[in-house]
Amino acid sequence: MTGGLWTASPSETLRVERGFSLSHLDPASTPGYIGGKDAGRIELKEHADELAALQEKLYAQSKTEGKRRVLLVLQGMDTSGKGGVIEHVVGAINPSGVRVASFGKPTQEELAHDFLWRIRTQLPRPGTVGVFDRSHYEDVLVAKVRNLAEPAVIRQRYGQIVEFERELTDSETTVVKVMLHIGAGEQKKRLTDRLNQPDKHWKYNPDDLDARAAWGAYREAYQLALERTSTPNAPWYAVPANHKWYARLAVQRLLLDAMRGVNLNWPLAQFDVEAEKRRLAAS
Ligand code: AMP
Ligand code: MG
Repeated sequence: MTGGLWTASPSETLRVERGFSLSHLDPASTPGYIGGKDAGRIELKEHADELAALQEKLYAQSKTEGKRRVLLVLQGMDTSGKGGVIEHVVGAINPSGVRVASFGKPTQEELAHDFLWRIRTQLPRPGTVGVFDRSHYEDVLVAKVRNLAEPAVIRQRYGQIVEFERELTDSETTVVKVMLHIGAGEQKKRLTDRLNQPDKHWKYNPDDLDARAAWGAYREAYQLALERTSTPNAPWYAVPANHKWYARLAVQRLLLDAMRGVNLNWPLAQFDVEAEKRRLAAS
């Protein structure tokens, strides 16, 4: 099913399948969408309420027997727009139903555990949408590029991740994994803006330039991670992210499709509605 100015659903066009190549995906492209920035922004607003309503249904179901929850995993280089997706897409959902977890450099306590330990503590509860701003994937991305673990240890992690995500999808978690794919030129522009605007300095970290200097190594690490961990139950979506409006609209569609795909109904009242109406009227 498509809608609005989509000619093909991002769930199909952006899905990482066998033979996928990140270097062949143009970060400035807008696959499957025939509108431009203005149309895209309007469409994003038009679907905000639907996203909110779907989460509300999810929550309502969790009040009875429902265990379903959603996990949105966001990965991407600095300035790729993870924060903007959280603000402009996830922001449409009732804050009570959302939990955002950001994963930075592990603390000493976190390092003392298995790499999935800190991830497990942040998983969404039934009825809610969890968002990971970076995730367990850092342990096969920055960890690989910066040699933060032995190569053999990192090689094992792909399989551990696949197994972990299988556990999640087997226990009623809908997993949506998004890689925001930005080009090196666009990143330079965004980092320049950050440096030129004092109110953006807080977003800048001198380490960002070290990651930028290793651009090719990161792309290779992403390529490997995407191809090894994109599974039928927890597929990856590679979203061209040079156009913020497109990336946001595409992630919104991915979430909508994932949540529309879950059989969501308003739960039946666990009480006698007519009897309650009579009691209320008489009170
Ligand atoms: P930011 O998302 O811009 O706040 O940056 C968070 C930083 O923490 C990034 O440089 C990540 O690469 C880094 N980071 C996140 N997870 C890990 C990890 N498991 N090991 C090492 N560095 C990490
Ligand atoms: Mg950063």
